[in-house]
Amino acid sequence: MKLHELKNITDDLSASDRMPLLFVGHGNPMNAIEENRFSTVWKEVGEQLPRPQAILSISAHWLTRGTRVLAVEHPKTIHDFGGFPEELFAQQYPAPGAPELAKETQRLSTSHHISLDDDWGFDHGTWSVLKKMIPNADIPVFQLSIDYSKPMEYHFALAQEIQSLRNKGVMIIGSGNIVHNLRVVNFKQNAKPYDWAIEFDAKIKQWLENGDSKSILDFQKLGALSQLAHPTYDHFLPLMYVLGFQYQNEIPAFFNDDFDMSSVSMRSIIYQ
Ligand code: ZN
Repeated sequence: MKLHELKNITDDLSASDRMPLLFVGHGNPMNAIEENRFSTVWKEVGEQLPRPQAILSISAHWLTRGTRVLAVEHPKTIHDFGGFPEELFAQQYPAPGAPELAKETQRLSTSHHISLDDDWGFDHGTWSVLKKMIPNADIPVFQLSIDYSKPMEYHFALAQEIQSLRNKGVMIIGSGNIVHNLRVVNFKQNAKPYDWAIEFDAKIKQWLENGDSKSILDFQKLGALSQLAHPTYDHFLPLMYVLGFQYQNEIPAFFNDDFDMSSVSMRSIIYQ
């Protein structure tokens, strides 16, 4: 979509107390410090978003046994990657936490147990995006972990149960990638995406546009195609939360709908 269309969407938000819901394809951690075609759009989207009371991030990089919610006043910045320049390790994202909203999240979830966590911080799935989107780091941020042992339906149902956070001033960001296969990344400049990456990404886009969450939850039925798109599906799981947080009849708008390194879809989604 074009940016002026995004602006029209966000202009209408004053009519509603509901905060936007985003899925952001985060890709390469270097997007946090590079000015490139993806990070430039993150910055522009951030400038057009309404100001939430807090942001809840569900990142592909916080995988746990049991579901946890970050409940500390001052979360640390976690540099959960290797082999990158010093400059990336030096980055901090000093946004405050939101422990009261973390407790509210726990309270809202009556049929899924959520533990309060004082150990995690902001992993790069969260801060690499927010560094560009909300560079002042002046909006409280908290994270919900992903229990990797649970089926797709668990993530969807849990998000549905805590969906009303969006009406309490909380903007939700799922951070992952719609196609994510690091085994076959191509570092050549302007490398073309693989055919299977284009095919999987297009299917998901179509299902999103049709509001067909069921088919997305059942993505493994695509067999070999789903295996190619997600040899492990950690980066796809944040989308299951986004589907659960979505209200009926919300229409997705897309940004950064392109590929990086041939096998990573950067397609990002906003609902309002
Ligand atoms: Zn990642």
